[in-house]
Amino acid sequence: MIERIPCKTEGCGATILPTTAAKTGGFCMPCHQEQERQKRQAYIEQHRRTVDLYEDLTGRVDILKIMHEPRRYDPLIQYVPYPLSKEQVYVSITAEEAGQMLRYAVELLDAGNEDGAEQILLSLVCYRNDDISGVLPKLIERDMYHSSILFKDVPPEIRNRLLQQVKWDDDNRNHLLLILSWIGDAEVVRQFEEWRLNPPKWAEQLFVNPDMYALEGGWELASNGERRELISNLCYAIRATDEQQDCTGETPDAHFLKTSNSNCPWCERKLTVFIDADTTHPSLAYLGLSIERLQVASCEQCGCFNTIYMELDHQGVPIWSQYNEKPDYLPGLDDEDSSAAAASAKLSLASEPQSPYFAASWALTQLDSQIGGHPSWVQDAEYPLCPCCATRMRFIGQLDWADFDQYGEGIFYMFICTEDRLTATLYQQS
Ligand SMILES: [Zn+2]
Ligand SMILES: [Zn+2]
Ligand SMILES: [Zn+2]
Repeated sequence: MIERIPCKTEGCGATILPTTAAKTGGFCMPCHQEQERQKRQAYIEQHRRTVDLYEDLTGRVDILKIMHEPRRYDPLIQYVPYPLSKEQVYVSITAEEAGQMLRYAVELLDAGNEDGAEQILLSLVCYRNDDISGVLPKLIERDMYHSSILFKDVPPEIRNRLLQQVKWDDDNRNHLLLILSWIGDAEVVRQFEEWRLNPPKWAEQLFVNPDMYALEGGWELASNGERRELISNLCYAIRATDEQQDCTGETPDAHFLKTSNSNCPWCERKLTVFIDADTTHPSLAYLGLSIERLQVASCEQCGCFNTIYMELDHQGVPIWSQYNEKPDYLPGLDDEDSSAAAASAKLSLASEPQSPYFAASWALTQLDSQIGGHPSWVQDAEYPLCPCCATRMRFIGQLDWADFDQYGEGIFYMFICTEDRLTATLYQQS
């Protein structure tokens, strides 16, 4: 038997082989690795440089270009962040500066940097709702159909070409149908209706009927063959606020994430009122609700596992719906409670609207929480059917847990059927 020797670290009870001791200077492997880690850390702290890439820049176009540059992680460099986020800069630039960014995207495209170009184009389209149709032929040339939202404003001749292409282009059909849903004009609606009445042969290869793609563009093909809107184009951001700013004394238009008095019948935790907003606020007025405030409640825990419906009484108080169906699996009461973090977040509604496409591309880096606008689908578009009247429910807003909770993730989407005064929440995460 080989004799084992104790690790030299005081209090460490491990014993090691002499060969290990020879390599590590008498320490066990975990202790040795910890020492090495500390040495590395000390070296990094001693040699780390602070780099401010924005130091000498005043032009916002130059600042955006730097923001778009891929940055290799280097532990020895600490980058000074710019005081504004990328999307804040995009919103603040002039039309002329946006034009410069568009030309820069074309330069990148011509140089073969498709990803870089695509990020800029997406930013211009989503954050600013800019018209980039002049660049689309270049994307088509390169078969760049992946970011379907970029094509939403294509001129009719390109739309016609895409409507033909979807019939023969097996490789790109999925993206082309998504593009058509974003275009969603009368010609597309007519074509979707024709495909619904006479399903084409190629539709057999799809997971859903072609007309179901409309959901990705925020509308559905109604049974009468017309386009029915599922979203509102008036979009207001929901953002974290400092408590100081919130002491104005007047009743705010909207509260978020209030703990409800009622309990979830499934897990017995308190329900959460995700939003409680004045129904005359521009972001909700289009719904024509006869109640003063719209409250959307759900269970933060069980809502991650199933759609949760709430019925609004004549005063707008949400009541657990009889239509809720308990899923087979729910986490136990002892499982970690996520609601504590969310409840501490202080959120308020932006005073000015933003682009309805602001958060439509989930893969970009913006904050997603908002009332109105297009949802940031993490997975496929999913508008629940009203359990009462079977009509597809309309999107009223979303809360992205990552926006206000460092460890949070996943988005709660909120919907309503105004006829039955029934709300729904559903949850998606990556
Ligand atoms: Zn040890
Ligand atoms: Zn629950
Ligand atoms: Zn209904």
